Amino acid sequence: MGLGWDIVMGLLAAGMGVWHLVWRRRCAKLRLALADERQSCSALRLQHDQVYADQQAQLQTLFNSMTEGVLVLDAAGRVQLVNQSLQRLFELAGDVRGQTLLEAFRLPELMELVRRLEGERTVSGFEMEMPGLTERWVQINASLLVGRDAAARGAILVFHDLTRIKQLENTRKEFVANVSHELRTPLSLIKGFVETLLEGAKDNPETATRFLKTIEKHTDRLTFLIEDLLTISRLEGGQILMNLQPVELRPKAQRVLDDLQARATEKGVRLQNEVPAGLSARADGDRLEQVLFNLVENAIKYGRPQGRVQVGGEAGPDGKVRLWVRDDGPGIPAEAGTRVFERFFRVDRARSRDTGGTGLGLSIVKHIVQAHGGEVSMASEEGQGTTFFFTLPGA
Ligand code: ADP
Repeated sequence: MGLGWDIVMGLLAAGMGVWHLVWRRRCAKLRLALADERQSCSALRLQHDQVYADQQAQLQTLFNSMTEGVLVLDAAGRVQLVNQSLQRLFELAGDVRGQTLLEAFRLPELMELVRRLEGERTVSGFEMEMPGLTERWVQINASLLVGRDAAARGAILVFHDLTRIKQLENTRKEFVANVSHELRTPLSLIKGFVETLLEGAKDNPETATRFLKTIEKHTDRLTFLIEDLLTISRLEGGQILMNLQPVELRPKAQRVLDDLQARATEKGVRLQNEVPAGLSARADGDRLEQVLFNLVENAIKYGRPQGRVQVGGEAGPDGKVRLWVRDDGPGIPAEAGTRVFERFFRVDRARSRDTGGTGLGLSIVKHIVQAHGGEVSMASEEGQGTTFFFTLPGA
């Protein structure tokens, strides 16, 4: 019995030993398999991370190549991605990723837009004025991103810079308002005089002649205005092609002075041609005459009675030719200096109208000179006179 027990115990011990060995082997195998699994898992994760990083980099490159600003928010409403256009548009200095909308942009309007997105899912054409010293506008189109997992949820906002379009829109509105006003003034004066004539003034020949002369003056003004408007519109539309030829400048200036001599004599103004003989420019002769005519006519109109108007010129070191028209009149106040080339700008409205001005003369000058690749400028000292300069390409 005792031996039998020993044998059983021995067999049991041997069995346990074998089982332990087998178990250990199994465990070792399992461990190996687990390690393999873990290794392939981390390899997979590495691969996945790499693919994700590549995709992000591709997206960022794509977004950076866009002229529109792009902002991507994550599910928590924090900034996940901004492209370079958006950084420029909002002048964002540092990295705003991870910040809330308010922290990054400090614009409650944007928060409002994102709140609207929750209900509407997409918002198009949301316009917003940007804070700052200069007027800037953006239009935003936004969509909610609805993915299955949280990582794919959030919102995307695309910003278009509207500033230029708004400015053009304002300029157009202003232009239409100005033109209407300019047309209405002479028209209502003409209508007034015609009515008075019909009501009986026509029976007095002297009064009738005076009224008819006034009507003629305002009709002329309307004609000049329409001619100037057509010229401006053709110049702006690029319909007037400059026929550039070598032009001798002294005889050209003389022609303009001769044409305006009668008006100068009426005011006792002396006209002087100081353009050096032999100076030439590459220009469209007729358009150049128009530039000189407008400038000399203004110098006579707004200059001093019994004063002096000079036309001069020189060849510049840069191969360009510089011309100027100078008067010794009352000058132009400094605050108006930068605006005289704008359409319909007048320093003294009543005076310009009295002299038949359309407010477009200098604007036409600027357009013609720029179409030659030149520049216009003005220097004036109150009480001392005004000089208008312009450049042309040398011959
Ligand atoms: P306008 O038809 O009124 O003369 P312009 O465009 O030619 O229009 O000129 C714009 C304004 O600039 C004029 O109304 C006038 O107030 C001012 N201006 C132009 N030339 C002179 C000058 N030589 N001296 C003083 N003011 C001038």
